[in-house]
Parts: sequence; structure tokens; C-alpha cells
Amino acid sequence: MTTRAPKGAVDVLPPESGRWRRLLRAFDSLAERYGYGLALTPVFEATELFSRGVGEETEIVSKQMYTFTDKAGRSLTLRPEATASVVRAYLQEGRSGVLKCAYSGPMFRYEQPQAGRRRQFHQVGVEYLGEPSPDADVEVVEVGYRLLQEAGIREVVVLLNSLGDPADRADYRTRLRSYLEERAEALSAESRRRLATNPLRVLDSKEDASVVAGAPATLDHLGAAAATHFAAVRCGLERRSIPYEIAPRLVRGLDYYNRTVFEYQASSYTAAQGALGGGGRYDPLAELLGGPPTPGVGLAMGVDRIVGAMPEVSGREDRGVFVVVADPERREEALDLVAALRTGGLAADSDLGDRSVKAQFRAAARRGVTVVAVVGAEWARGLVTVRDMATGEEEAVPIGEVAAWTQAR
Ligand code: AMP
Repeated sequence: MTTRAPKGAVDVLPPESGRWRRLLRAFDSLAERYGYGLALTPVFEATELFSRGVGEETEIVSKQMYTFTDKAGRSLTLRPEATASVVRAYLQEGRSGVLKCAYSGPMFRYEQPQAGRRRQFHQVGVEYLGEPSPDADVEVVEVGYRLLQEAGIREVVVLLNSLGDPADRADYRTRLRSYLEERAEALSAESRRRLATNPLRVLDSKEDASVVAGAPATLDHLGAAAATHFAAVRCGLERRSIPYEIAPRLVRGLDYYNRTVFEYQASSYTAAQGALGGGGRYDPLAELLGGPPTPGVGLAMGVDRIVGAMPEVSGREDRGVFVVVADPERREEALDLVAALRTGGLAADSDLGDRSVKAQFRAAARRGVTVVAVVGAEWARGLVTVRDMATGEEEAVPIGEVAAWTQAR
């Protein structure tokens, strides 16, 4: 063995990748049903997009970026998240009004790898641009909640908070800083450092939980407009029967959030392991990137973590037909049958390696297929022997009926 995958990056191969495929498909279909078109943006961006958008003082920008200089001397960064890119694309194209889009792809952060924390990880997310209504916040929260439901993850609760409008947030920041300064001696060295640069980040410190527990709450300092917005979001979540808890110390790491912020927590995935996903409203972001004021709200779900928390599905995963070649003389016809089944919309496969019938059956069983179709002596009479792999039931059926026989299982 020579070269290995880089630290903090993983390979996902079959059969484990079956769960990834299920989850990515579920997201794709969910996003489409909720009216989010697909957004494809570059995996690398000008470094300043993140320093301006995400914020210089954030952990992501100050410590975790994969930044490099290209051959023409430009500073580029592998994207640590996708919201800034989607908003950049909206502004670059001169769009205005509502744009709803969904994305899916790898993100990169130079973190200390541990359970649930990788340097390359996959996110799926949606962005709802151009809409200030609290109902947009509710819809975005709902998309993530339904995705976790479809993934079979139980006991999901949405942790919900509001940071208020930028003026409320600035006011809160001052109050929080003076609260923390009074207790600076009790804080860890890391929190003392954050206190100077980005006091909201101290709220994420596990070591300083007791000081954090008594810190002022953002909700006590909301202006009237932000308070009304928050009440409407709560109402909307209740109407949609989405369970939520108010999390007064949830602030999230990025600078661009205002008003609603949220995360998903599941009983099978503890708080210490991190959230399965989260998001919030980011009305100030477009202006931070030099564009006109454009409200927005979005969400990002951590696919690596969700897949890790998904229960095993019972039963067969790879429904379809495996065609076994029992008579090597009929190999070409068997491949024609595979092709016809595939064209007809079924999952179909065969072994191309001239292996024994027994070995071919073993391969079929490993795949977990529904039906094995044996191309052998009966072919001359226009028949194929089909076997239901779950019940063992076997029958010789006309070649043209293999698909229907399989679909009936
Ligand atoms: P964030 O962009 O930090 O709000 O992250 C959104 C979601 O992405 C988190 O809730 C996690 O599920 C996932 N995530 C963030 N960072 C990582 C990481 N380093 N490794 C794996 N998943 C991550």
C-alpha cells in the first residue's frame, strides 16, 4: 500500500455508499418538491469571498481554510461552506427577487479530525433568497426536518434562537462582552482570546459551560421587528408540527446570520458529536458581498453525520434482476436480456467473468437482488428460469416476461 487518502478525508464505496445514495436521492426529491432548483457553484472561490462573507474573526476563516495561490498568483480557497457562493452567484448574475436553490457537494475545513468531524465532508442545503417572510424560515427548517425523517432518524428536535437584527446583535455583543469580561478569570485561555475577537464564539465553549449558562440571552434583547418575526416562525413551526426547543445560547459560528438561527439535534446523535445540520437567516450577507440588500435564509445538512446516524434498513436494498449465464453458449443472449431489462427501467446486472453458476448465484445474493434469472437450456424454448431470492420460489417464464415477474415481487 503506497498512498493513502489524506488525513480527515474518507472514501465511501459499495455497499456502504448505498446509504449515501439513498440520502442524496431523498434530498434531491425533497428539494424539488419544495420548489428548490439546482445550484452548481465552483468548489474553489476567491479567498476574499469567505473573509468578507463568513467573517475574518470566525473559526472557519481564521483557522480552517484550505487556501492556495494559483499559477497566476490569485488567492483561492476550497469552499468551507456554500451559502456565500450561492449569494455571490445570485449577485454576479444580476438577479433580483426570489431565487430558491438547492446544492449538494463537498466542503473543506482544516479541522482536527474526530468522530463526525472531517476535513472534507459533504453538505446538502437550500437557500431561499429574496424573501423576508418568516414563512420562508419555516419552510427551510421544514426541509431539513423532513430530510431527517426520510433518513429514518428518530426523535429529532430543532434548536431555535433569534439573534435579532444587526443593531440588536451589536447591542447584545456589548452586553455579552461586559458579562464575560467580569468573569474573564474563570474562562479558559481559548475563550479569553475569543472574548477579544468574537465574544459570541465563547458561547460555543464546552469548557466554560457554567459561565455560559448564566450569560445574557439574545432573545431578551430583540427589537420589535425581530421579535414579531421570531413569534411568526414559532407559530409556523407549530402549524407544521415540527418539534422545537428554544436554545438561548445558540448563536452559530458565522458572522452573516441575523434573526432566526437553528440546528437539528437527534437522540441518536449527541450534542457532543455536533449537529446534523443547521442554518439561519442571513439578510446582511448580500451587502457584505457588495450587492444590494437581499434577504435570505438557508440551511446546510451534514451528510457524513446523517448517514452515520441512519438506521440499518431491513430487507433488500438493491432491488432488481441478476442474470446468471448457465450455458456459456448463450452468453450474448444473456447480455441482450440484461440490456433489455435495463432499457425497460429495471436494475439488472450479470457476471462478465465466465464464473461457475454457483459463483454467479453467490454474487447475486451478495447484491441482495430480488430475482435471479437463469439463461440455460430452456432458452431454446423461449424460456428463462426465474427465482425469487426471498422465498426461493422458482418458475420458467417466457423471456419477455422476466421484467413483469420481477416487478410483481
Ligand atoms: P455549518 O456550515 O458549520 O453550519 O455546518 C452545517 C452542518 O455541516 C453541521 O451541522 C454538520 O452536520 C456538518 N459539518 C460541519 N462541519 C463538519 C465537519 N468538519 N465534518 C463533518 N460534518 C461537518
